[in-house]
Amino acid sequence: MIILVINAGSSSLKYQLFNMAGAIVMARGSIERIGETKGVLTHHICMPGQGKKIVKEQKVKDHNRGMHLVANLIIDPDTGVIDNIKNIDAIGHRVVQGGETFGSAVLINDRVKQAIIDNSPLAPLHNPPNLVGIMAAEKLFPKIPNIAVFDTEFHQSIPQKAFLYALPYEYYSKLKVRKYGFHGTSHKYVSRKAAKLMEKDIDKTNLITIHLGNGCSVTAIEKGKCIDTSMGMTPLAGIMMGTRTGDIDPAIIGYLMEQTGKTIKELDIVLNQKSGLLGICGMNDMRDIHEKIDAGHTKAALAVEMFCYQVKKYIGAYAAVLGHIDAIVFTAGVGENDPIIRAKTCENLSFLGIWISPEKNNQKTSKPFYLHSEDSQVQVWVVPTNEELQIAKDVQKLLK
Ligand code: ADP
Repeated sequence: MIILVINAGSSSLKYQLFNMAGAIVMARGSIERIGETKGVLTHHICMPGQGKKIVKEQKVKDHNRGMHLVANLIIDPDTGVIDNIKNIDAIGHRVVQGGETFGSAVLINDRVKQAIIDNSPLAPLHNPPNLVGIMAAEKLFPKIPNIAVFDTEFHQSIPQKAFLYALPYEYYSKLKVRKYGFHGTSHKYVSRKAAKLMEKDIDKTNLITIHLGNGCSVTAIEKGKCIDTSMGMTPLAGIMMGTRTGDIDPAIIGYLMEQTGKTIKELDIVLNQKSGLLGICGMNDMRDIHEKIDAGHTKAALAVEMFCYQVKKYIGAYAAVLGHIDAIVFTAGVGENDPIIRAKTCENLSFLGIWISPEKNNQKTSKPFYLHSEDSQVQVWVVPTNEELQIAKDVQKLLK
């Protein structure tokens, strides 16, 4: 089965073509700066023995044109990996916010498209471009089934006591204010992969999965099902991130409006784009931050202390919620590549049965590995995330 996975942003279109026999990536790429004077196309041929990368600059008017270019790149004799578009069995689309409407992947029809529109106020930067990508694919490939896979889907098993905010109840019933959670596809992928690596049945496994990229979230997984997650109604909540605050006292917003005269829109930019690691030390890339710490930058050191402290607090909270943990799983840019952050986060957690081995933690590999020491009661893993493959797997499951 051949599945094309599309992730459409407001000015970008990312794609991966999978051959599900062996879950092989045949080709992947992106079109950036759609609608601008110069678009950038990057296309990788990933077939074994044929690795090749093509980068081109050209104006790409809109997502329809972008989708057309993707189709051409995939079948072109020079850059292609299949003979005919008809060889694609299905197209999986990443959609960020499915609200409470969708608990699993769904074949796209008019009702689904309307639901994506209805949920757009909850994800105004993501759902509208996701829908534009869907419509472009439908137009270009009218005979291929289009399937939506929602970031929020994995979190739909969170119970009401964990997803409700203690606000007047009608804000939930009338205005949909509740925790939805994000990075769901990533948490789902790494939890299943980790269980497999541990040779355990996911339905009998309790995990804390920790996604640390530009955005960061922690998820409590009980017997394979998500029962709580750190992000909230929006991806601003939870632990501090590259540029986002994470949890703060909500009364700070009113106080800052009064003290600074900033509007709610201006403060929204501060909370989402000027806070987190960047707000504390002026940098949001963890590699730069470590470099500056080595050079004696005290605020960079403080940012790392705060970051690891907050991740550790979620480990403690979710350990209490789960009662028993089989493993902790780190993933995404920082989680996969940063032994300092992993070590600091797991420091002094021996009371939970967590011990890591410095040698194992320091290994450099793009493959999954464990870093717990022999006597640790809880396993600790690094599992590189692969959201696109999870989307392709969900599409395959639905078609079957
Ligand atoms: P996104 O959330 O945008 O998908 P990623 O998961 O790619 O982000 O993570 C990006 C972040 O990962 C970067 O900002 C950087 O801080 C961090 N990162 C990437 N490589 C390393 C590394 N080798 N060491 C430490 N941090 C890294």
